[in-house]
Amino acid sequence: MTISSAPLTSVFHGELIEPGHADYDRYREIWNGSIDRRPTAICRCRDAMDVAAAITHARSAGLDLAVRGGGHSFPGHSVCDDGVVADLSPMRGITLNLDRGTARVQAGVLLGELDGATQQHGLAVPAGIVSHTGIAGLTLGGGMGWLVRKYGLSIDNLLGVDLVTATGELIRADERETPDLFWGVRGGGGNFGVVTEFEFRLRRVGPQVVSCPVFWPIDDAERVLRFYRDWIADAPDDLMTIVSLRKAPASALLPEELHGRPVVAILCLWAGDVEDGFRAVAPLRSFGQPAADGCAVRAFVEHQAMLDPSFSHGWWYYVRACDVAALTDEVIDVSVEYARRIESPLSALTLWGLGGAMARVDEDATAFYGRAAAHAFNISGITATRAGFEREQQWARDFWSALEPHRTSVYVNYLSDDGASRLGEAYGAAKLARLRSLKTAYDPDNVFHLNQNIPPLDG
Ligand SMILES: Cc1cc2nc3c(=O)[nH]c(=O)nc-3n(C[C@H](O)[C@H](O)[C@H](O)COP(=O)(O)OP(=O)(O)OC[C@H]3O[C@@H](n4cnc5c(N)ncnc54)[C@H](O)[C@@H]3O)c2cc1C
Repeated sequence: MTISSAPLTSVFHGELIEPGHADYDRYREIWNGSIDRRPTAICRCRDAMDVAAAITHARSAGLDLAVRGGGHSFPGHSVCDDGVVADLSPMRGITLNLDRGTARVQAGVLLGELDGATQQHGLAVPAGIVSHTGIAGLTLGGGMGWLVRKYGLSIDNLLGVDLVTATGELIRADERETPDLFWGVRGGGGNFGVVTEFEFRLRRVGPQVVSCPVFWPIDDAERVLRFYRDWIADAPDDLMTIVSLRKAPASALLPEELHGRPVVAILCLWAGDVEDGFRAVAPLRSFGQPAADGCAVRAFVEHQAMLDPSFSHGWWYYVRACDVAALTDEVIDVSVEYARRIESPLSALTLWGLGGAMARVDEDATAFYGRAAAHAFNISGITATRAGFEREQQWARDFWSALEPHRTSVYVNYLSDDGASRLGEAYGAAKLARLRSLKTAYDPDNVFHLNQNIPPLDG
């Protein structure tokens, strides 16, 4: 293959941001404030042709290529030093086909924008739990959210993608045209090309849902979590729950004496009939003596944005993650012990209750690994600035190490700088081997390596 050496400006029609440009600092910033990198060029792409031009330019100049969707990669893979960023954030189109029940979504779209468009029709694409996350990176790793038990992962609702390859070719990946590539795209991250557009199946949701946070003081946490474990054991798919262990924010929902003190919160979404939902969450609300109960009927879009303030742009983030097969007494004890040790008012454990539709998809159907995981740990050490960050990082590492005997798989989108050594946990040996063959076929030179990188064979 010949890589064109035509000047970038003759083939790229988007906005080109280089050092010295008035907006350079704004466009190199990503969500994680601890990442400060200075690319040579930020190519703000308008379409697939621009994406191909950015890829070709990076290759011909021998520069690293970073690909940016929503900019929420925990380790900051969407920006690089001294390389080219293919920034897809100007590509924000959403086209609904209500007759077919599908949505075409460009790669720069954020979750809240997609919910805003689909919820006007009482529909949704199952995606994540923070509305400013990008649909692109989230979907390519799998995509877990409030609807994961009812409708599966985002990739379980993906019908196909348009993708620009390492040679600058625009191709379609779907079950019919390129089943192998489509298998790899669903969980293999951005390893095989730059997706410019996703086609999803739409699902019926809301627009009104039963939405809860219920809080207890940390002294009740062991009891609450043991109750929670049993309560969700046979829960219907309509119920999705997430546990949060952290210091209580200064929220009007919480009594003032709890502000800044460690709490356990159980967050729920009931995605079915509202009356059934209140019946389903009643045992939770009446367990022990909750310090606050914020259960209410809310618009799905409001519920989807409930956690946004806990994960603001520009704070410093460090994440360690793993899945566990069960919330055993030991796992609960470790979790509560480390919750008590949190110093930063922002650090948190977010513990997902999984299962349901996600777990019923055949494990071999997609590259995503870990469908049988019962719970996913996301341990986030967070500070507003550099001050105290090292301590929170250490807290996250220690917490994760203490879970070592219980760890099974790990969600690839929750990996940080530990990705290279944990690919086996993220994919399992057999899938990793298949992914490496696919990588060798589609990107033998590893052009797309700023991600949780699947090395080509012999790479
Ligand atoms: C606040 C927050 C909340 C989160 N909540 C959830 C959640 O609820 N559920 C969940 O499953 N995950 C969640 N995540 C993890 C999230 O899925 C990953 O961080 C994801 O990679 C973010 O995608 P992005 O497009 O915003 O990020 P980016 O940083 O832009 O991209 C992430 C990775 O994907 C690659 N990439 C991006 N776009 C493309 C593309 N179009 N083609 C090819 N490669 C591409 C990038 O190169 C990079 O390696 C959350 C992350 C954050 C920071």
